[in-house]
Amino acid sequence: MSLLALNSPLTAVPEFHNLLNQSTTMSTADIKKLIPAHPFLIEAAEVHEILQTSGLTLHELMQKLIPIAQELSHPAISQYKVGAVGLGESGAIYLGVNLEFTEFPLNQCVHGEQFLVANMKNAGETGLVSIALSAAPCGHCRQFLNEIDDGQSIKILIPNRSPLKLSELLPDSFGPQDLGFKGGLLNPLPMLEANHACPVTAKALQAAQQSYAPYSNSQSGVAIKTRDAQIFTGSYLENVGFNPSLSPLQTALVALFVAGKDYEDISEVVLVEDLAPMISQAAITEQLLKSVAPEAAFKLEKIDLPQRQWRIQKCGNTSIH
Ligand SMILES: [Zn+2]
Repeated sequence: MSLLALNSPLTAVPEFHNLLNQSTTMSTADIKKLIPAHPFLIEAAEVHEILQTSGLTLHELMQKLIPIAQELSHPAISQYKVGAVGLGESGAIYLGVNLEFTEFPLNQCVHGEQFLVANMKNAGETGLVSIALSAAPCGHCRQFLNEIDDGQSIKILIPNRSPLKLSELLPDSFGPQDLGFKGGLLNPLPMLEANHACPVTAKALQAAQQSYAPYSNSQSGVAIKTRDAQIFTGSYLENVGFNPSLSPLQTALVALFVAGKDYEDISEVVLVEDLAPMISQAAITEQLLKSVAPEAAFKLEKIDLPQRQWRIQKCGNTSIH
């Protein structure tokens, strides 16, 4: 899935590049004519091609994508549109937007930066190099970004400011190391066998195995089946500050929106968690699902998940098995 390949014909590419070349003040409307409606992931090769042809710098391109991200946001409560554009270690560019839920407590809303990181995690991205934002990140998001390995060195681009490092926006931070861990929200985890007779449960199991849960060791994953029989998954993502953690349904909803789907497309949701987890996502998953997709079926599957060892070893490296 990519910016230029989703819905637009390949013949649109040169036209897109010509427009980018015209001026760095090119309007958002002009760009939107040439890109798909849901450009949440631009693969590295396409980023490279756009930069070479347009003459834009990487940061200029990222900043041009901010208003496009803002238009894709779902600020049902605040009406405040957040756009986040992130550069992954792979060279791919990802978009993030705020996702707000009416009739549900505010602490379940997904912030734009959280959406961005969940989008990267879902795509298998292993690091966040820089992030361009429509406004300075809130404290909640600064803490969330600090969960990424070497997160303090993430470059933050805010309008009308020189680039900053996260360490400058979050000094004297409380981080994973304060609880005996090394942050690694995007660190790759070994892929394990995820066999199950039900294909939706098998996908949720795979997502659970990819979850980041160093503090509770309560891995969980969600698979959303849509009415057209597609499956979208999300993994639980924990945070040392606890409250900024993202539930597996939240990250699965990110995958749903990245694919251009919406709540009314959901037909079934399966949550997989361990047999006796320290914390359970079951109640919150069922409640949020009832709120956003009341017609959808919900199933909880308890499966004996292999426990991972997250604590820092004596050599100083995080041990993840
Ligand atoms: Zn935020």
